[in-house]
Amino acid sequence: MDIWFTEKQTPNVGITCKINNTLIVEQTPYQHLAIIDTEQFGRMLVLDGMVQTTIVDEFVYHEMIALVGLNTHPNPRRVLIIGGGDGGTLREVVKHPKVEKATMVEIDARVVEASKLYLPEISSALHGNPRAEVLIEDGIRYVKENKNTFDMIIVDSTEPVGPAVGLFSAEFYQSIFEALKDDGLFVAQTESPFFNADLIRRVYRDIAGIYPIAKLFLAYVPTYPSGMWSFTMGSKKYDPEAIVEENCPDLKSRYYTPAVHKAAFKLPQFVQNLLKTD
Ligand code: SAM
Repeated sequence: MDIWFTEKQTPNVGITCKINNTLIVEQTPYQHLAIIDTEQFGRMLVLDGMVQTTIVDEFVYHEMIALVGLNTHPNPRRVLIIGGGDGGTLREVVKHPKVEKATMVEIDARVVEASKLYLPEISSALHGNPRAEVLIEDGIRYVKENKNTFDMIIVDSTEPVGPAVGLFSAEFYQSIFEALKDDGLFVAQTESPFFNADLIRRVYRDIAGIYPIAKLFLAYVPTYPSGMWSFTMGSKKYDPEAIVEENCPDLKSRYYTPAVHKAAFKLPQFVQNLLKTD
């Protein structure tokens, strides 16, 4: 008998995958956690019924959330990741030759432990990488307590529910501003332009109200709602569209290239309309 998993992405739309095997299902102190093995996408991390990452398409999201910002900053020595418990973003950050230390602050130890056990391709940097530090605590509090410290901050959060609600607030973007050095920048995952238009409008307006440079970019992740995914960057100094392609290190990426980096900021008209601040 075939067994299928469905994520209800909106009240009216879902994604359904055939399952080979269920590896772990539990309620953590923060969320419902499952790792399932799907026929199409391989192993899949699901939190509160929402797909977080899969073996087959994770490279798109993790490369784009990390490398666009890392190649925009000329010297990204100290990097902070908020969330990101599966380790995929950390893996990309520590690949970058200019990064001296990357700190990941994840609220839920069980996401880290389960990813280490069942998602080895994604979680490789969680296994004692000398440039990686993993802390289990609330990212909102950590950012408030560390001022003027980081060159780059990445907000690799779950959807804005439960402990992640505060990760999409203007107050948090202000705390991030204060945690960054004078020329720092940050990147946050900001959901689907098709299904989360109001959230994108609000988040962009908040970031543009705090940072001299605010820009949204896109990538295509098959298992995320609508496939089209957005990231928003707030930068104190460096313009992500002004990179010199020849200066970017070759990171042997599968999705990211310096040309894709530049192209990701060319937005369809309906997405540009979401960013109009008037
Ligand atoms: N790539 C994913 C996506 O966009 O669907 C997100 C990946 S990662 C699994 C998100 C992580 O953020 C979760 O493990 C969750 O526990 C963590 N998180 C949520 N709220 C947090 C907070 N306040 N501080 C630190 N981590 C948090």
